[in-house]
This record gives sequence, structure tokens and C-alpha cells, in this order.
Amino acid sequence: MNKNKKELKERLKSYLECESILNQVFERINYCAENCRLMKEKDTNIGCCGNMFDFYEYFNGEDKSPRLAFLVKDRIKIYGKPNKTEDKCGYHSDSGCILKSHKSPICVTHCCSELKKYMGNKYSVIYHEDYISDCFAKIVIGDFDNEFIEKFKKELEDILGEVSV
Ligand code: SF4
Ligand code: SF4
Repeated sequence: MNKNKKELKERLKSYLECESILNQVFERINYCAENCRLMKEKDTNIGCCGNMFDFYEYFNGEDKSPRLAFLVKDRIKIYGKPNKTEDKCGYHSDSGCILKSHKSPICVTHCCSELKKYMGNKYSVIYHEDYISDCFAKIVIGDFDNEFIEKFKKELEDILGEVSV
């Protein structure tokens, strides 16, 4: 395997490991389906995955960045291409997001103010979205070493521990 391929493989592995921990955090909290204000207001199951914020609509945003090609390519192999939709993200289904992994950084890390407040009140967790997003951005561009990944994973696991009690 050439150096470039090896590096991209390492990047993908680290990304998926960190994503998996953060996914578990939000799964344990399990807030959105029952409590999302946007879903209630619109009487749908589409919260912030809908076409309401141009910057957040995943397929109009960062997903098209060449930097994410390593992730998108692997995602399409597993989940296929997104459906063509106008009102919501093409990976959104009746039961929510079909991606169990390989989401874009914004989808992995985004947490609305209401959910942040809930995390603070219920679990005393302060969700530092900017910091967490920056860490994922470093992984995306390959600006990390083992020490960084282990530290970041430990920080995410600490949050997971706090929301699991
Ligand atoms: S993060 Fe907030 S806005 Fe998005 S689905 Fe969850 S509750 Fe709704
Ligand atoms: S990929 Fe999933 S989390 Fe991201 S916008 Fe689409 S449905 Fe939502």
C-alpha cells in the first residue's frame, strides 16, 4: 500500500472511531425524536436535516468538499448515493437518518441549542461544539497523530460516560 493510501485509511479509521463514540452519545440521550421543536412545529419527523438552513443541508454543504472525498467514497460503497429530495437530506428516511456511520462532520457534531440545554440540565454536560468540530476537522485533513486521537477519544468517552448514568 502506498503512503498516501495508508494515510487516508488511517484518517478514515480514526474518523469512524470518533464518530462511533459521538453517535452513541446522541443515541443514549435520545432527545430529538420526542422533543425536537422543529418536528413538532412542522408535524414531521424532519428536524435539522430538512432544507431550512442552507449551511446545514448536508448535500449542499461541506460534503462536496474534496477534503471529504475519502469519507464520501466509502459511504457510497456502504449506503449508496442519497435520494434526490428537495425538502430534506437524501439520506433522511421515515425513521430518521439511514447513515449509521460515515456522516459528514457537521452531521456528526451538530447539536442545537435546545439539545445542548437538555444535556446541561439532565447530565451536567457542557457540549463544546466548536472544539469537537475542530477536532473532526483536524482528522479530515489528516492534521493529527496517535496522541491527539487517543486524547480526543477519551474526551468523547468521558461524555458518553456522563450521559450513561
Ligand atoms: S438537534 Fe435539535 S433541531 Fe436537530 S433534530 Fe435534534 S432537537 Fe431537532
Ligand atoms: S446525513 Fe443524516 S444527519 Fe446528515 S443531514 Fe442527512 S439525514 Fe441528517
